[in-house]
Amino acid sequence: MRLSKFFVPTLKEDPTDAVVISHKLMLRAGMIRQLTSGVYSYLPLGLIVFKKIQDIIRDEMNAIGGNEFLLPALTPNEIWAQTGRIDDFGDIMFKIKNRELVLAPTHEEVFTSIAKPNLISYKDLPCMWYQIQTKFRNEARPRSGVLRGRQFTMKDAYSFDVDYAGLDISYSLQDKAYKNIFSRSGLKFFSVNAFSGAMGGSASEEFMVESDAGEDVVVITDDRSYSSNIEIAVSYKEDVGRKNSDLKYEPFHTPNIKSIEELAGFLGITDKSRLAKSRVFVNPAKSEDKKDDFILVLVCGDDEVNETKLQNIFGQNIRPGHPEELASITGADAGSIGPIGLKDKSIKIIADLLLKDADELISGANKNDYHIKNIDLKRDVNNIEYFDLRVVKDGELTIDKKQKLKITKAIEVGHIFKLGTKYSEAMHSFYLDKDGIEHPIVMGSYGIGVERIAASYIEQNHDDKGIIWSGEIAPFKVHLICASAAKEEIVKETDKIYNDLFNGEKIEILYDDRPDVRPGFKFNDADLIGIPIQVIIGEKNLKNGNAEIKIRRTGERILVPLDNLYTKVLELIDEY
Ligand code: ATP
Ligand code: MG
Repeated sequence: MRLSKFFVPTLKEDPTDAVVISHKLMLRAGMIRQLTSGVYSYLPLGLIVFKKIQDIIRDEMNAIGGNEFLLPALTPNEIWAQTGRIDDFGDIMFKIKNRELVLAPTHEEVFTSIAKPNLISYKDLPCMWYQIQTKFRNEARPRSGVLRGRQFTMKDAYSFDVDYAGLDISYSLQDKAYKNIFSRSGLKFFSVNAFSGAMGGSASEEFMVESDAGEDVVVITDDRSYSSNIEIAVSYKEDVGRKNSDLKYEPFHTPNIKSIEELAGFLGITDKSRLAKSRVFVNPAKSEDKKDDFILVLVCGDDEVNETKLQNIFGQNIRPGHPEELASITGADAGSIGPIGLKDKSIKIIADLLLKDADELISGANKNDYHIKNIDLKRDVNNIEYFDLRVVKDGELTIDKKQKLKITKAIEVGHIFKLGTKYSEAMHSFYLDKDGIEHPIVMGSYGIGVERIAASYIEQNHDDKGIIWSGEIAPFKVHLICASAAKEEIVKETDKIYNDLFNGEKIEILYDDRPDVRPGFKFNDADLIGIPIQVIIGEKNLKNGNAEIKIRRTGERILVPLDNLYTKVLELIDEY
């Protein structure tokens, strides 16, 4: 491809609106342009990369027996109502104003609607269906370029099986295909146990790329024997335990003490585990004739409540109580709430497992500026239930106490779910077994973000000059540069190398033939765009029958006789 005829609007400076590196570099390298918040136009260079990623994905999906579909983005409200997901997704779903349609954020419902009248016998199963298609999500903060777009390309696949054993097989096929896709895309990645969220289902696994640009927080061990999204991560920590004292609980005055830190300071203690932190959450009523449920959550004073774990127990919509709600339900403001003497007696009380049957606890008195000491959860709090509710902390040990946990930021590039029968039951997609008995189809769903793979790759492969492509997703293999564009014979010679030696397009080659661009500018653009092998044809080297090769990743420069250029380039393409 001749650069003179290929639209690559590179930018010299970092765009001010971009924060993360991949966003800056995709804009600067002329791969994408923003149309409006979270919505991008893909320019020719960007599109080449995205298509290459799609080719890899398609290849790996077909290799595990996937059938490629293409479903519409416009979908009827009614289909989402069947599974209740119009409400579950809430504001993330784009809703069309003048029709009863939504722009699909995912396609479980639509695929199930195709399965329902067609996969009706055990003989029709198993099936693996997929598409590579545009998704729409009204992301609240689309600020990292194509890492979090409001419109983006997803490969979504769905498996249909007769039973859970079948699902296990489909799921592990996808798992393996995902690992191939990310390896072939040049990513350093790992997988973690994950929360299933609005998808529902039993097990799910996310594929992560460690990066500061990531919005996920993951917990891993150095040997990777444990890896989990922090949303569901667990660790070993000694429980608070019982002292078995028979001290009665007793309120005491704590003027202006609002936080656990202030309370610990006031009491002159450093171990905050017996200072029970109380937080109030609201589970909104499902219909207008019902009341909201209130839940008081207790964790150790040095812990935080993990809201995803709460969602796992109470459903997606649970949220922290507002200040007015706290006051009316408990009788106090946030810093003085506790399990004893709540104004509203119907509030449900739950506590973290580390507090199981603990006594001699201190917590708020539900009266501003007062706390209560010697609370015994076993003796004083009726119907209390215990769950794992805490956020794991950096440096804690794994449950088996063998490994130290490290917390790091990561980008989620893929997510696979064992859905089970949530969608087939809701939409009545059933099959008949050998004996003519009806069963819901057992489903899995499997998603990958195409643009997110490209951006994650750039996060992991760049330097201060630009992107460093390699392997299958590089937009071109070779960047040929005519460094003396003003000299006719040099231009002729470089044209000849492009046409004859590289046979035009046989090796994917970008030829910077721009006649009126200074060499320094061309070199900078080449480093910015980041094609793995640069071949530079300049006057001095050419006089001696040589071309210069620069390896983008290492910066190494090699002089190669023209006779040997093709062979050398082929060799280097393999390596970089
Ligand atoms: P996130 O937690 O980052 O919002 P998600 O868990 O909602 O993502 P899934 O529903 O699991 O995403 O979607 C499957 C894949 O689609 C993700 O692993 C990711 O690669 C990609 N993806 C999801 N949302 C976006 C987005 N807003 N922009 C770009 N890619 C996305
Ligand atoms: Mg996900």
